[in-house]
Amino acid sequence: MSTRKSLLVIGGCGYIGSHMVSCLIDAGHQVTVLDDLSTGFSDSLLGGELIVGNFGCRETLDAIFSKSKYDGVLHFASLIQVGESVAQPATYYQNNVANTLTLLSAMVDHKVGPLVFSSTAAVFGEPSYVPIDEVHPRQPMNPYGMSKYMVEAMLQDFDSAYGLRSVSLRYFNAAGADPQGRIGERHNPETHLIPLALRALLDESSNFKVFGDDYDTPDGTCIRDYVHVADLAEAHLCALNYLWQGGATSAFNLGSGSGFSVREILDTIRTVVGKPVRVETVSRRAGDPARLVADSALAMTQLGWTPKYSSLETIVRHAWQWEQVRHRK
Ligand code: UDP
Repeated sequence: MSTRKSLLVIGGCGYIGSHMVSCLIDAGHQVTVLDDLSTGFSDSLLGGELIVGNFGCRETLDAIFSKSKYDGVLHFASLIQVGESVAQPATYYQNNVANTLTLLSAMVDHKVGPLVFSSTAAVFGEPSYVPIDEVHPRQPMNPYGMSKYMVEAMLQDFDSAYGLRSVSLRYFNAAGADPQGRIGERHNPETHLIPLALRALLDESSNFKVFGDDYDTPDGTCIRDYVHVADLAEAHLCALNYLWQGGATSAFNLGSGSGFSVREILDTIRTVVGKPVRVETVSRRAGDPARLVADSALAMTQLGWTPKYSSLETIVRHAWQWEQVRHRK
């Protein structure tokens, strides 16, 4: 990368945001992070300047956009728990939709752009076929997925009316950690398979719970598409370059293209770590489709994205390296 750009990363202290900051710094860019630290951690930042504040506050955004000029914005600041979104839709629509509307309006008024937006496979709902490509119908099944769907729709309209160009990246299952072991997944509460299964190895008192083994899949457990967080970050860099070269507002699915069942993940953990996770099978978790696998061909051809860490062993090895660091913290 020859030209140094200045970027605002909203939600840069979270899991994917912090890996993004690291990726941008490695690419030679100048980074400012806006994060209210409600779910992120300031010590997850491996560089850049941190502004502690809420991205839904227009005064904060006016101050930031008046003080410095940005060549682009990356927006990671979302609430992400499906169950919580069902119980508290107002909170989800406020944070994920209304606050994002405030951000988009401020970007238009200050003539800042383009934008890369964190979207999700949850915009598709229950898949009618897999792998899921970009033309698959979007029928979100919960307020979380709906909130991302609504922002994707707003982004199309903001381009048509105001010329704000953007790329929405729909993540399938973000997983893994910094290959150097400095940062990784730190959700509170943690709900994701790989960190929970690894923690069951570190904490002798807990079993890992498999949510259902009666799905219509070869081993009865759900199949997901796990994509390394460092590859996700790299896809954002590709999206920025695409937009800087004049690319049109679009959405892309990001996955590895391979599906693995919960049992296959547990088997891989056993191989990588060298001991088995103690498991118990419990009933299904509400709202879990049997299979979610991405077709990422469009991101590869249009954005020039090439995932580097597509082996599941590598994803689990990096996650395990990080879990041991996190456990000692
Ligand atoms: N899962 C599980 N036990 C857990 C957490 C997750 O069996 O403690 C399963 C879950 O039902 C799903 C898969 O693991 O089939 C991935 O779930 P995760 O929450 O990591 O990501 P999601 O696919 O919900 O985004």
